[in-house]
Amino acid sequence: MKRRILIVGGGSAGWMSAAYLNGALNQRGEKPTVDITLVESPDVPRISVGEATVPSIQHVLSVIGVDEVEFMKAADASYKQSIRYQNWLHNDQSFYHHPFSRYRVQPIDRSGPDWLQSDRSIPFMETVSAQPVICDLARAPRMLGRWDMGAPLSYAFHMNAQKFADYLRDFSTARGVNHQFANVTDVNVAESGSITSVTIDSGERLEADLFIDCTGFRAKLIGEALDVPYEDYSQWLMCDQALVARIPYEDYYPGLVRPYTTATALSSGWIWDIPQQDQRSIGYVHSSAFIDPESAERELRAYEGAHASDIDTRLIKFRVGQRSKAWHTNCIAIGLSGGFIEPLESTGLYLCDLAAVMLAEHFPYSDNMMEAMAFRFNRLIYNRYLEILDFINMHYCLSRRTDSAFWREVQKPERITDRLKAKFEYWKIKPPSASDFEDQFLPTFSSPVQTAPATGTDSRSAVDTAGLWNHESYEAIMYGMHFCGAPLESPEASAPKPVVRSQIIERLKQAQTKLPPHELYLNRVLGMPEFRYSGYQPPGWAMDVAKPY
Ligand code: FAD
Repeated sequence: MKRRILIVGGGSAGWMSAAYLNGALNQRGEKPTVDITLVESPDVPRISVGEATVPSIQHVLSVIGVDEVEFMKAADASYKQSIRYQNWLHNDQSFYHHPFSRYRVQPIDRSGPDWLQSDRSIPFMETVSAQPVICDLARAPRMLGRWDMGAPLSYAFHMNAQKFADYLRDFSTARGVNHQFANVTDVNVAESGSITSVTIDSGERLEADLFIDCTGFRAKLIGEALDVPYEDYSQWLMCDQALVARIPYEDYYPGLVRPYTTATALSSGWIWDIPQQDQRSIGYVHSSAFIDPESAERELRAYEGAHASDIDTRLIKFRVGQRSKAWHTNCIAIGLSGGFIEPLESTGLYLCDLAAVMLAEHFPYSDNMMEAMAFRFNRLIYNRYLEILDFINMHYCLSRRTDSAFWREVQKPERITDRLKAKFEYWKIKPPSASDFEDQFLPTFSSPVQTAPATGTDSRSAVDTAGLWNHESYEAIMYGMHFCGAPLESPEASAPKPVVRSQIIERLKQAQTKLPPHELYLNRVLGMPEFRYSGYQPPGWAMDVAKPY
C-alpha cells in the first residue's frame, strides 16, 4: 500500500517538500510509492522572503524535473554568483566577496597564509577566484552561446519567493500531488504520541502515515500540538527582525542587474540587496535590542536614497534557533517550523531542501522503520543547523567595527560559539583544510555540544561535516575579514603585492570578452523586460574595475 504523506503549509518549504518527494519517491515511469497531499491555509500568507539561494538548489530542481529556464522565467529569477559584504570589517566602504567558485592549488594550498604576508592591496578572494571581478563587472555566469571557458562558474539564483512557491505548486499538482485550501484547526494525537489526523475548518479529518509541518513560524504540528522544544540561538546571533521593501525597476532601474547579493552592514545589523528581473528586494536585518523601529526605518530609507521616503515597508520578526528534534514520532518539521538561522548567507531554503532530500533518503516505508530513520535524520539536520550557526556567527564576531553598541557587542567572547572559538584557535596555527572537518576534536575543543543534545538520548558532540560551508568558504570570510589570529595585524610596509594566480588572470580576460552583461543574458534568454535607466545608482553600485591587474 502507498504511504500517505500530508504536508500542512504551502510556502516554499511545503511546495519544495511536495515537489521533491514526488520527484524522488514517485520516480517517473514507475509505480508511485507515496501519496502526497498538501493542505494550505487560504488566510495565512506565506512569509515570502526566501529570495536568495545557494547552489545546492540546482540539485533539487533537477530531481524535481524542473527546467532551469522555465523556472527562472516563472520566478523572475536572476543569477547569484557571490555575496558582496560591504562595511563588515570597518565602516569605511571596504568590501569583500564570498563567491561560489574558486581555484585551489593541490595538494597543499598556502594561498591564505601567503596573502596574509602580502600588502593585501588586492582582496584575498580575487587572488584565487575570477568570480569577484566577474560580479563587479556585472557579467552573467553563462555565455549566450555554447560554454567554452573550461570549468563552469558555480551559481545559485535570486528570485521572487511568492512566484517560486506558485510555480512549484502548479508543477507538483500537474504531476499528481493533491492540493487543498483549508485551515488546519486541530491536530489529533494518539496516546503513543503519533499524529493520527488533522481537522480542517470544514470539520473534515485528514489522515496520513506521515505529517510534514510546513506551517512556518506558527509550527502548528511540531510546536503547538507536539510541544517539541525550540532551542534559542540568540546568544550568538542577535538579530531578531527584518524591515523589508521592494524597489521596482519600473521607477528605479539602475541600468544593470547585479549577479550577486549585497550585504551591507548598518548600525545594528545589515541590509540585503537582492536584484531580480523586475525589482530589487531590500531588507534591514537588525536587533530590536539595539535599535528602535523609527531609527531602523530611517536607516533603511537612508540606505536606499531620497526616493525611499514613500516606499512601503513590512516588519518581519523571527527567532533564531531550531527544534531539539525536527522529526518527532510521525511528524517532521521542514522550513521555518523546524528552525531558522537568520538570512545572512541565504540558508533558509537550503535547510528546506536538505530536509526534503534527507527525508527521501531516510523514508520510513513502514512504521517499524520510523524510529531509526528519525534518529539519523535528527542527527544530520541538527548538526547542519549548528554548522550554519558557526559560519554565520563568524561574520559578526570577526568585525572590528566599534561605531555602534551592536557591533561592539557581537565581538564579545560570550557571543562566539565554543566550536567556532576552537576553529579560530586552530586556524591561527594552520590554514583551514578539508581534514579539519573530519571531527570536531580540535586541540582546544573536545567538550560535549554546547546546546542540548538532538534526541534526548543522543549525548554525542555535534560534528561540523562542512556539508554546506567547507574550508574554502571559511577562508573567504576569514581572509575577507583579515583574520590573522587576534588582534587584527596590519601588513608590513615593505610587504609584496599579493599574487593573483595566472589561471585567474586568464579566466578574467576570457570573461571580459565572452560573458554577456547579466541583464542582457536575462533579456535574451528569459525575456526580462527592458527598463529605462532611471539615472539612479543604489549604494555600492560603482563598477571601479579596471582589471585584470
Ligand atoms: P511560510 O512561507 O510562512 O509558509 C507557511 C505556510 O503554512 C503558508 O502556506 C500558510 O498559509 C500555512 N499555514 C499556516 N498555518 C496554517 C494552518 N493552520 N493550516 C493550514 N496552513 C497553514 N531563505 C533563503 O533561502 N534565502 C533568503 O534570502 C531568505 N531570507 C529570509 C529573510 C527573512 C527575514 C526570514 C524570516 C526568512 C528568510 N529566509 C530566507 C527563509 C525562508 O523565507 C524560508 O525558509 C522559506 O520561505 C520557507 O518558509 P515556510 O514555507 O517554512 O513558511
